[in-house]
Amino acid sequence: MTRAATEHYRQSFVRRTPEQLRTLSHVKRFTERLAGDVEFRKALSENVDAPRKVTERYGIEVDPMEMLPLWHGDYQKYRFKPESAQWPLATMWDEHLRKMLRHRDLLRDEGEMSTINPRFHAWRERQIRRCNDELGASSLSVTYPIIAFELSEGCTVGCWFCGLSAGRFKGYYDYSKEQAERWRGVVGVAREVFGSAARTGFCYWATDPMDNPHYDRFLFDYYRITGALPQTTTAAPLKDQALTRRVLRLFNLYGTTPNRFSVLSKAHLNQIHMTFSPEELLGVELILQGKEAPTAKAFAGRARERKGKGKLRSAIKDDAIALLERDHTTIACVSGFLVNMQQGRLQLVTPVPGSERWPLGYRILGERFFRTPDEFREGLQSMIDQYMLESPAPTCRSASAETCNTKQGTGTSSSAPATWNTGCPTTSLRFPLAISSRSVTAQRRSWLCGSRLTERAYLQSLTCSIGCTRPG
Ligand code: SF4
Repeated sequence: MTRAATEHYRQSFVRRTPEQLRTLSHVKRFTERLAGDVEFRKALSENVDAPRKVTERYGIEVDPMEMLPLWHGDYQKYRFKPESAQWPLATMWDEHLRKMLRHRDLLRDEGEMSTINPRFHAWRERQIRRCNDELGASSLSVTYPIIAFELSEGCTVGCWFCGLSAGRFKGYYDYSKEQAERWRGVVGVAREVFGSAARTGFCYWATDPMDNPHYDRFLFDYYRITGALPQTTTAAPLKDQALTRRVLRLFNLYGTTPNRFSVLSKAHLNQIHMTFSPEELLGVELILQGKEAPTAKAFAGRARERKGKGKLRSAIKDDAIALLERDHTTIACVSGFLVNMQQGRLQLVTPVPGSERWPLGYRILGERFFRTPDEFREGLQSMIDQYMLESPAPTCRSASAETCNTKQGTGTSSSAPATWNTGCPTTSLRFPLAISSRSVTAQRRSWLCGSRLTERAYLQSLTCSIGCTRPG
């Protein structure tokens, strides 16, 4: 059982003093403001020689002069180079980014099942190779968890860009005695069938975790059964602050994968920053989705539907999608099982570029329904038997045909092109503070269009921790 990711993550923080952690949290807040708030960028550009005047107004207690390569266009060329040692906070942040990237790669290894479930293992490995071919740079950010659970039906948030087209909220899976027992039984079966790979699981998909008021109880059960606390991504961290704080407390006790808040606007960013201190959010990546933030939106799900219907009237929204059409075509990450507890539905899924055939950016290979943990086990087993061959069927000759990995070999891969330009797969870009009259959109366009990112550029493009591209 691999625990390398857990150990790596813990060590990334344990070896730092409380003062260093505090400093890191304020550097992180600085990068969030930089990426998500055009007024902040403007104020910095007007005070390049005395930027502290600006950061103090935002409660950011670090000196921007100690991290010039992170924000000043004239110094960005020194990032990730020995010269950056002159700016210790920039070095500290970039080292943190590298560690989080390494952690992401180790998380991918946690899905290893060669001993406990060789068929699933071989199938997942093939899906990873196919995604590397088909998803371009987006595939780098995917950790290929093997299972995800929905604890509600639909989502109350209704993001216009939802890559999974989450439906209207219809209710949540209650933590009643009977349902909690069923939940624990199902997670126990996952642990039994997938071994330590069950640690990669998480508890949302086309749902927001905070729509379930008992979410933290489900998480804690998962931790007790598998030894891993599932990662949380939410676009509604302010909806039930007591619940959010309970989740963050669990994370502080047992968490080993950064949580994520999806930030929908600058007003949302302001509220989140007012509600949670920089220290409280050190383990939470903010995915800045607002108009002022150049975060990639996948051309999948609702964003795809709206574009197709010509409904996107906002120029900024439209640009946000058009820029990424070639670059970012799915937010799906699971190659394995998607479970809806409310409906007792089990699906075998794997990411594909969003297309007319698979508009949500993932392909559904099979589906079963269950009422009990035993039926859940039978459903898993029958889909493993039917769809997961030890090696591809003879009719599947190319890497991109791996999704036709059925006994009959009758499926086809996505009709989308096999190669993709690279782009920013996860979070907001940290472009240099360009002191010019160019709009945010123009800066974003010049960065993204036609670019093929080197590793260094890729690192530069990341704000904070790097998780896989999941909904939220
Ligand atoms: S992106 Fe997440 S929070 Fe937004 S509508 Fe979709 S599932 Fe809900």
